[in-house]
Amino acid sequence: MIEKVLIANRGEIALRIHRACHEMGIKTVAVHSTADEDAMHVRLADESVCIGPPPSTDSYLNIPAIISAAEITGADAIHPGYGFLSESAQFAEIIEKHNIAFIGPTAEHIKLMGDKISAKEAVKKAGIPVVPGSDGEVSEFNDAAKIANGIGYPVIVKAASGGGGRGMKIVHNENELSLAISSAQQEAAAAFGDGTVYLEKFLTTPRHIEIQVLADTHGNVVHLGERDCSLQRRHQKILEESPSPALNSAGRDEIGEVCRKAIQTLGYRGAGTIEFLYENGEFYFIEMNTRLQVEHPVTEMITGIDLVREQIRIADGQPLAFKQEDIKFSGHAIECRINAEDPFTFMPSPGQVKDYHTPGGLDVRVDSGLYSRYKIPSHYDSMIAKLIVHGKTRNECLMRLRRSLQEYVIDGIKTTIPLHQKLIREDDFINGDYNIHWLEKYLDSLTAD
Ligand code: ADP
Repeated sequence: MIEKVLIANRGEIALRIHRACHEMGIKTVAVHSTADEDAMHVRLADESVCIGPPPSTDSYLNIPAIISAAEITGADAIHPGYGFLSESAQFAEIIEKHNIAFIGPTAEHIKLMGDKISAKEAVKKAGIPVVPGSDGEVSEFNDAAKIANGIGYPVIVKAASGGGGRGMKIVHNENELSLAISSAQQEAAAAFGDGTVYLEKFLTTPRHIEIQVLADTHGNVVHLGERDCSLQRRHQKILEESPSPALNSAGRDEIGEVCRKAIQTLGYRGAGTIEFLYENGEFYFIEMNTRLQVEHPVTEMITGIDLVREQIRIADGQPLAFKQEDIKFSGHAIECRINAEDPFTFMPSPGQVKDYHTPGGLDVRVDSGLYSRYKIPSHYDSMIAKLIVHGKTRNECLMRLRRSLQEYVIDGIKTTIPLHQKLIREDDFINGDYNIHWLEKYLDSLTAD
């Protein structure tokens, strides 16, 4: 039985995990850098351990310090959250060598999916449709040109170890190909320590739709429907919703079932997300995330399933408490990511929060570590809160979201709340008529005004 969980993360996700643990009667250990001494995740945890100075390489990415913290406090499991060490196969391996349960998949699956080339190959074999492209690495210009001609321009050069939207280059014709490959290789080598790149057809008007799965260690797998994450800036998600305005329940069941079977074939364990581009009624796999996602609450709001609780139960060796047919999708949910940034230039705006007031009422959820007079450190990701709202219909959800965004007060710093207030009033958004390029075009049109 898991009795004490060390949470190897910070901010809203550390709190989110703490809440699931406490509801289950599990004690929590927070780890923190010296910049996070006053953070809410530290204040609420049963115990806390300082693991290093502010830079994350010395603290939240410091594996020996985290393992020592787990040993000192007698934690029997570690939850990595998202970001930081959540997709480090090495971290998962070391944890299990210390006889501590890793609340996540096996190191082998993290490794397999962490390399986008091996991931694509594996899921294709398991029956998932992928984006047409090179069968593996491209390095020679002549080979790349042949492949690009075969699939047709535009193509996109992507980093095998890529993440966070980095290391991608769009290529419109053969003249641009050589430079795109070498600059993507350099960027990838600098960012990920691996310069391997591959080619894919660049889809011009897709939506980003992803499927949430849960798999236990007894061979049971379920899917929890989709999330539409098409509203992106620089390949980073800004707002997510479920169900997707582009999918009906037959379409959901079909792709959900393809994913469920593939995950079963792969022998995967834990929570995972299979990400697709969706264009003209077809799904094309781009990558699998072997961890909890930032946007997981929209799935929780429409299914009533606590994904973190399920992750912990799975790590504890328990079978899933429900079957696919028990999962009911109810209503509509939208999540707005709120960043400490200028809402239109996206310049970071860390600093001290003055007045702080969260929206409330039926079906409104705020996941955040903020409080009045909290000083947001400048060392970490700028996302400071998530506002998630549910409604019986998409329209009701939008009404509730509008008034919730109006109620939310975060004084003293700039936040992206004004951007959300504006964009959810746009006709295209209200009609669900958007793709992965819509937000950037919209932002360009605002600065052109
Ligand atoms: P990362 O791991 O860096 O997030 P992904 O492979 O998940 O990279 O892609 C992130 C985003 O980049 C996608 O949501 C989409 O907006 C864009 N993208 C990736 N591959 C393609 C493609 N083949 N065609 C068009 N856009 C793409």
